[in-house]
Amino acid sequence: MAMIPARAALTVLREGNRRFVGKLGLDSESGLEVGAAGARRRELPAGQEPFAIVLGCSDARVPAEIVFDQGLGDLFVIRVAGNIVAPSQIGSVEFAAAAFGTRLVVVLGHSNCGAVHATLEQLARPSREQSRNLRSIVDRIRPAVEGLLERTLPGDRQALERQAVRANIRMSANHLRHGSELLEQLIQNDGLLVVGAEYSLETGVVDFFDGVPP
Ligand SMILES: [Zn+2]
Repeated sequence: MAMIPARAALTVLREGNRRFVGKLGLDSESGLEVGAAGARRRELPAGQEPFAIVLGCSDARVPAEIVFDQGLGDLFVIRVAGNIVAPSQIGSVEFAAAAFGTRLVVVLGHSNCGAVHATLEQLARPSREQSRNLRSIVDRIRPAVEGLLERTLPGDRQALERQAVRANIRMSANHLRHGSELLEQLIQNDGLLVVGAEYSLETGVVDFFDGVPP
């Protein structure tokens, strides 16, 4: 499978945006938008009130808006390889929780995560070739998965990868719960909830498995 060149990719995006604008449904005579999508979009320039914050992986197969069937303005989404929590991710969550009053935060990882896989590889066969920037991602995932290597039967690679994905999600959720004074206060006093969830690439199902109140 050959990857399309950059210019062709740009054309695909331009055409896609043209279709998107077309779907907003401008009435040809009045120039006004008709239909629900248009009405919704017209409200949006005034501000946003996303009802959930999602910290997800950059993986192209896990777009939060699509897997949760949400539209424009519904979700405040932060995406980074391996759904890691570094200061800029905490800052983004703090911003949305404070500015919009959003009270649900979802850390959304997924099966067969390349960043988690790369971390396990790096632990098994350390290489110095990794760029410093890529290493900064692996280093954030490493503490979640290190202990698993000793506890998992050697050879059961699939089980190890599955557990590593969940451990990484749990760690990110915990980091958001305890890595920020502002978020900690919102959790204690204002009903902010941080949950961890895993999206299955195989079935499309999201399993909310961490921090969900009974
Ligand atoms: Zn991933």
